[in-house]
Amino acid sequence: MNDQITHEEAVTRCGYVALIGVPNAGKSTLLNQMVGAKVSIVSPKVQTTRAIITGICIEDQSQLIFIDTPGIFKADDKRRLERSIVKTAWNGLEGADIIALLIDAQKGICANTEVIIDGLKSIGKPVIVILNKVDVVAKNKLLLIAEEIQQKVSPDTIFMISALKNDGVDDVKSYLASRVRPGMWMYDEEQISTAPLRFLSAEITREKLFLKLDKELPYSLSVDVESWQEDEESVTIHQIIYVLKDSQKGIILGKKGSMIKQVGQWAREELS
Ligand code: GDP
Ligand code: MG
Repeated sequence: MNDQITHEEAVTRCGYVALIGVPNAGKSTLLNQMVGAKVSIVSPKVQTTRAIITGICIEDQSQLIFIDTPGIFKADDKRRLERSIVKTAWNGLEGADIIALLIDAQKGICANTEVIIDGLKSIGKPVIVILNKVDVVAKNKLLLIAEEIQQKVSPDTIFMISALKNDGVDDVKSYLASRVRPGMWMYDEEQISTAPLRFLSAEITREKLFLKLDKELPYSLSVDVESWQEDEESVTIHQIIYVLKDSQKGIILGKKGSMIKQVGQWAREELS
């Protein structure tokens, strides 16, 4: 018995990887690809990830625990929500073994990325750069950005990927798997997030609302799970959507309830 444990300890690896980058760089998309399931909300709008989300995957003998931080940007000092989002993101780096800086190849190193690069210098952890969205950027432009990254960040390595198309993601995973420290896995093999399923179910509904509501979107909406009942074949989930103003109720319900019906259907499909 003892022998067996020693053997396992010797071959398995485990580590925390923080995904960091400006809002919209594609952190949540990449995380979901790595994990192979939706653990983080994806939206073309900024700042949809407010809390720290984790995703867990196994690659070879390594368990990788990803921390998806909310995007870092230069917060307006007067805006409390902005400041708190940015603070949450930096806090997310504390427990990380490796920091993966995501850069949107469409934008290159923008002013907000410079803020991050500056911040990283004082943290002193291994940094890799993942240049994302290469599916929509010309090769010569990619090379120029890579050169600039090399100069300004001098990361351990640079990957060029398309998180959306799942192109190059496996290379990142294998690299990270080889870099994390030998040690026992922190979570069960099947576990894909440290967030409870209840929370993930509310996040999925929130994502669908974000996508469906588009411009009319009341940004302040939140989704709570009221009840969660499981039997052998199915799960019955009741959720409540909160809005700030009475007038926003109608938008969410839609004509004769058509909007809420569609959102419900969409969320159910993904949840199942
Ligand atoms: P986050 O704010 O960094 O978490 O970014 P998200 O993962 O929410 O993605 C922001 C937007 O970029 C979404 O509309 C994604 O579909 C899109 N996106 C993410 N990765 C890629 C990619 O590789 N290529 C393209 N074209 N779009 C992407
Ligand atoms: Mg995100």
